[in-house]
Amino acid sequence: MEFTVLTLFPELVDTFFEHGMIHRGIESRLITGTCVNIRDFSCDRHKTVDDRPYGGGSGMVMKPEPLEAAISFAKEKTPKAKVVLMTPQGIRFNQQKACDLANRREDLIFVCGRYEGIDERVYTQLVDEEISIGDYVMTGGELAAMAIIDSVARMIPGVLGSEASSLSDSFIDDRLEYAHYTRPEVHNGLSVPGVLLSGNHERIRQWRKTSSLQRTFLKRPDLFETQVPTVEEKKILRQWCRELETLVNP
Ligand code: SAM
Repeated sequence: MEFTVLTLFPELVDTFFEHGMIHRGIESRLITGTCVNIRDFSCDRHKTVDDRPYGGGSGMVMKPEPLEAAISFAKEKTPKAKVVLMTPQGIRFNQQKACDLANRREDLIFVCGRYEGIDERVYTQLVDEEISIGDYVMTGGELAAMAIIDSVARMIPGVLGSEASSLSDSFIDDRLEYAHYTRPEVHNGLSVPGVLLSGNHERIRQWRKTSSLQRTFLKRPDLFETQVPTVEEKKILRQWCRELETLVNP
C-alpha cells in the first residue's frame, strides 16, 4: 500500500516515515511512504503557494495551480490512488474507517492544507474523499495525515509483527481493550491479578473479556449503543453487578 503526502512541510512527515513500526513496514516493503513538496510545483520565481481570498477577509488560500500539479505528479506514480483531502469538514475518522482503508489496500494520496485551506476548484475536481480527524481546527493537515497513515498501516498484515496485537485493540468490536500488566509482579504495593500468572488460557480470556467490558462500561458506555452486548457479555456484566451489590450491601 502506497501513502503519498502532499505538503508544504515534508520534513515533518519524512521524520514520521523514518521511525517506529511505520519505518519497519517501509523497510519490509509492506508499505511505502513518500512526501511531495507542493512548493516545488509553484510556477513563479518566489515559489508562491498561497494568495488572498476573493471577496476579502482574513487569511490566505492555497493556490490551485501548484496543488493541481502536485496531485498530477503523485498520480503519475500511483495512478490508481485515491486523493484524500485533510479537512475539519470531512467525515470523522475512526477505527472502522482505518479498517476499511486497510482492507481495501488502495494507494492513498493525502492533500495537507495550510492557511485557510485550498481553492475550492481543486476540491471539486480532484479530491475523491475528505477526512477529518476530529471536531477541532489545526494549522495544517500533516498531523491528520500522519494519524491516518499510522492507524491504517498498523492493520496491514506484517507491519506490527504480530497481527494478533491489533485484533484485541480498543474499538475493534466497539469495546475498549482490557488492562495490561508487565514485570515486576508487585509495583508500589500493587500486585498483578493472579489469574494472569496462572497459565490457564481460558481463565485469562475470561478475565480479559471482563476487564474490557468493565472499562467500556466505565469510560465509554456509548459504545454499548453501537454494539449491544452479546449473550456472553451480558452474563459477565450481570456477574459484575452481583459482585458490586455484595460490596455495597455486604
Ligand atoms: N478554514 C478551514 C475551516 O474552517 O474549515 C480550516 C483550515 S485549517 C486552519 C488548515 C488546514 O489544516 C486544513 O486545510 C486541513 O488540511 C488541516 N486541518 C485542520 N484541522 C483538521 C482536522 N480536524 N482534520 C483534518 N485536517 C485538518
